[in-house]
Amino acid sequence: MSQIDQIHFKGRKVLIRVDFNVPLDKKTFAVTDDTRIRAALPTIKKVLKDGGAAILMSHLGRPLKKLKEDGSIDYERFTLKHVVQRLSELLGTDVLFANDCIGEKTEQQVKILQQGHVLLLENTRFHKEETKGEEAFSEKLSRLGDIYINDAFGSAHRAHASTTIVAKFFQPDYKAFGYLMEAEIKNAEKVIKSPEKPFTAIIGGAKVSDKILVIENLLNIADNIIIGGGMSYTFLKAQGQPIGKSLCEEDKMDTALDVLKKAKDRGVNVYIPQDHIVADQFSNDAHTQACSIENTPNDWMGLDIAEKTIAEYSKVIKSSKTVLWNGPMGVFEMEAFSHGTKSIALAVADATDNGAFSLIGGGDSVAAINQFDLAERVSYISTGGGALLELFEGKTLPGIAAIQG
Ligand code: AMP
Repeated sequence: MSQIDQIHFKGRKVLIRVDFNVPLDKKTFAVTDDTRIRAALPTIKKVLKDGGAAILMSHLGRPLKKLKEDGSIDYERFTLKHVVQRLSELLGTDVLFANDCIGEKTEQQVKILQQGHVLLLENTRFHKEETKGEEAFSEKLSRLGDIYINDAFGSAHRAHASTTIVAKFFQPDYKAFGYLMEAEIKNAEKVIKSPEKPFTAIIGGAKVSDKILVIENLLNIADNIIIGGGMSYTFLKAQGQPIGKSLCEEDKMDTALDVLKKAKDRGVNVYIPQDHIVADQFSNDAHTQACSIENTPNDWMGLDIAEKTIAEYSKVIKSSKTVLWNGPMGVFEMEAFSHGTKSIALAVADATDNGAFSLIGGGDSVAAINQFDLAERVSYISTGGGALLELFEGKTLPGIAAIQG
């Protein structure tokens, strides 16, 4: 592989896999959050500034899964044309559009593309071959560029045509990561490979089953693992604690006990809530009370961590040198149950102020950090949800391996 800064882009057609899978307004299809478009700008601008032409490809949603009622593809909803205007505004230049991501017509559009020009290809997922990672389709994509750059970290865990297989058709010196990918990999590796100690991982969210592989791998690298959110209750019930109507995965209770045993054997501290905010219904208007876990009322459910737990978790976080945070401590989307997640977000920001390296990843923790206006006070916010989790599970991501060769 090559480094993006070592490649000469002048006069080259550069095929860039970006992640423009952005949220759109349901009625007007206007882009409602352009974070992912902004994240791709440094790479695109570098290619243009150096005198290359940028051919951008991405997926948008799941057009072949979300068909119209009559069974046909909803082109109007899933076209990447919706992104053209915002991209053009952010780049400060016109963006041309190709109605298909492969084919003769598109190849012609690429052929006449001048240096400094940008061509956005139509949604790669309009073709079933994309998610199947078919070689022939990948080869057709590869015809559109002299150089292939992958800057779509959010899709790096998928062995799809445009994220992985297409890279086969480029020699090592003609493929590289974009700046976003470089930063994501560098920051994740900083935590996975050489975390400054003590290293605390905060894992929250709804389900143990989604995070179990991450937790198991973290047992090899973390000093402290803090558990919060709905998944705590599987651990608590497995230990014989009353949890009322709180979320629980009965079939994961053995796994939870196994994690606790392994942690003890390896000297890793696992923290589980001691007290919580319980509610009589899953609603912002519910009746609520704070109680210790052993006093959980039968008919109530735990929806946030409470003061003792917040104090314990914050102390551990603030004495850490490396902090990884994935998943909220409660139902933070509802004001009544957001205090725990906000307090933990503040503790992560304080730790960062004190010199710790903090990495935030996964949609909901990123949303929480933004909701509480703390984005400027953490070290790095990852754009990848599933991709980041798989890196922390210890997996090699196909999109990364395809470039590294
Ligand atoms: P995840 O996508 O697995 O990270 O889970 C995030 C979701 O978990 C958020 O939508 C939270 O509202 C939800 N969540 C967090 N804590 C709880 C809880 N105690 N009970 C039910 N849902 C929760």
